[in-house]
Amino acid sequence: MEVEIPKDMEDQILKCSHCGFCRVLCPTFEFTKNESYNTRGRVMIAKALFSGEIEPTNSILQRIYSCSLCKICDLTCPAKVDLNKILKYFRVVLSEKGLGPLEEQKQLTNTILENGNAYAKPIEYSSSPIFHEISDLTKEDSDTLFYMGCMQSNYYPEIAKLEVKLLSKFEDFNMLKKSDHCCAGYVNLLGMPKEFEDMKSENEKLFESVGIKRIITACPTCYSTFKDNYSGFETIHSLEIFKDAIDNKRFEINNRLNATVTYHDPCHIGRYANIYDAPRIILENLPGIRFIELDRSKERSRCCGGVIRLPFFEFRDKMSEATLQEAIDIGAEYLVTACPQCFYNFSTIAVGYDIKVIDINELLGYYTGIVESIPLYALD
Ligand code: SF4
Ligand code: SF4
Repeated sequence: MEVEIPKDMEDQILKCSHCGFCRVLCPTFEFTKNESYNTRGRVMIAKALFSGEIEPTNSILQRIYSCSLCKICDLTCPAKVDLNKILKYFRVVLSEKGLGPLEEQKQLTNTILENGNAYAKPIEYSSSPIFHEISDLTKEDSDTLFYMGCMQSNYYPEIAKLEVKLLSKFEDFNMLKKSDHCCAGYVNLLGMPKEFEDMKSENEKLFESVGIKRIITACPTCYSTFKDNYSGFETIHSLEIFKDAIDNKRFEINNRLNATVTYHDPCHIGRYANIYDAPRIILENLPGIRFIELDRSKERSRCCGGVIRLPFFEFRDKMSEATLQEAIDIGAEYLVTACPQCFYNFSTIAVGYDIKVIDINELLGYYTGIVESIPLYALD
């Protein structure tokens, strides 16, 4: 298979001096110690593939699609090669040639394309018993939309409900009547431009049809996908709203947790969007909490492996396990995150570990008194 690589992409590839610094924090290299599972190796494989030197065997495709696009290699590359762009481009070419993504990933993207979400069970908020408590909190004439994201609304509706109740203390907003369509972030990461554009434009039309000018979301993937790819509205992460409420002394505190807490930075609001201060300002200002940092925090945060979970469960397990273990080693009683994917991965692994995994919205909901106990989702 021979492919003419565009000039801008070739320039990026030629910037690489093969120094290998991109291996330093790469999570898939961390657990394989195999050169073909880091950026340098992946780029060399893709070049050999596109020049026809090697064939697109399953083993080659495994290398290309096991990258979680976590962007941490962007941080350690001294030549500032745009590794994320290169890796995504390779996937686009493979998808256009019908060679990618992997079979399991294709099945999941087909489910997303057919149903509008990865769970094949869109919820009608208006008729769902779990959401009847929040239907009164929406303002249909608001130009601000609260976008729960398909994972939170389908998988963790109790947390989604809590997010709505919390946000309603500080903002007026509308919600879509049906469960939120997938933002298509996963489809984009897998390098399927046509499918991504179709879903994106459908969503943009939907938002426009209800007069949306601002979107607030608590989902990191939705946030980075909207911010980097959509147009026609401003995107805000709910943590920014809660941070401002704490700064302005508008955050009413009715409960208190006396505990040692650490925070995991999700890739899509961390390295993708630089939202590092808001969660820390929130956690450091909640009375009773002793906040401690993971060694791998902020820009150096290790991806939980959520994006590659299917079909690379083993990588996901090792990536999430390493962060959990680090949190335990530094003495944290709670590992807090702000992403439904990270929450799912850590809590799946944490069964039997001496630590609690919670979403930051659970903590905020407990402090304000919206819920009387946390975690909302038991680990066993
Ligand atoms: S994006 Fe992350 S997983 Fe992919 S090569 Fe870079 S560091 Fe490794
Ligand atoms: S760190 Fe950058 S320059 Fe060095 S091998 Fe990796 S991609 Fe190439």
